Amino acid sequence: ATGGERTDNSSAPYSRGEGGRAVLLKVEGVQRSFSVGGSTLQVLKGINMEVSERQLVMLKGRSGSGKTTLLNMLGGLDQPTDGQIWFMDQPLHVWNDAKRTELRRKQIGFVFQAYALLPLLSARENVELSLRMAGVPSAEWKSRVTYCLELVGLGKRMNHRPGELSGGEQQRVAIAKAVAHRPRLLLADEPTANLDSQMGAQVMAVFRSIIEAEGMTICMTTHDPTILEVADHVYEMVDGRFV
Ligand code: ADP
Repeated sequence: ATGGERTDNSSAPYSRGEGGRAVLLKVEGVQRSFSVGGSTLQVLKGINMEVSERQLVMLKGRSGSGKTTLLNMLGGLDQPTDGQIWFMDQPLHVWNDAKRTELRRKQIGFVFQAYALLPLLSARENVELSLRMAGVPSAEWKSRVTYCLELVGLGKRMNHRPGELSGGEQQRVAIAKAVAHRPRLLLADEPTANLDSQMGAQVMAVFRSIIEAEGMTICMTTHDPTILEVADHVYEMVDGRFV
């Protein structure tokens, strides 16, 4: 009862795409350049993509091809120099910092390669902290934290601190933390990069459960070819373009 309140997406008010699914993200002609030492470095060179709800989408490509730059933009951490990003039909590309911060707080979860857990807090306390930051009422914390840690297969490890958990378990705590406030979109930057293949497969299985149980949508970057088959869509980035 503390989990799947958002499994009914049939009433989503925004545009439909492939298979009649609601389109969560629409990216049109996105470019991003940076000024580096007096010259301009063009990193994204016209990206188009459409991500439907409940999909697991992977961005693959060599280091330096622009995956993280794009992921940051999907999460409202950065702005395109040209082009448009629509999140549930809302124009993210014209929003100011305050509006994008509010969107992130409510609708987006982030998972990183390095797990970014607080070492002195237990798994439970780490997840609880993210509910506090998201402004979720404290009466909901206990049941939601328990639900999320069970969802990632750590029901028996809730009181362990990060140092008492394996890398794969720490990453699963980080995932519980990222989804605790029920975001629409989970963004993960190389979430399996520090894990062996068995732990990586567990993380991917957890992502699938989250899509099933929570109706969430997941975009992640990877350069691990062994996990690509789990994706609904794979976009390959070469030098700032999809090929
Ligand atoms: P990937 O995630 O595919 O490894 P990134 O998106 O991290 O690639 O980086 C793509 C390119 O953009 C790299 O050459 C990187 O140095 C450059 N870059 C990323 N962010 C910045 C920035 N803030 N300032 C200057 N260059 C950047």
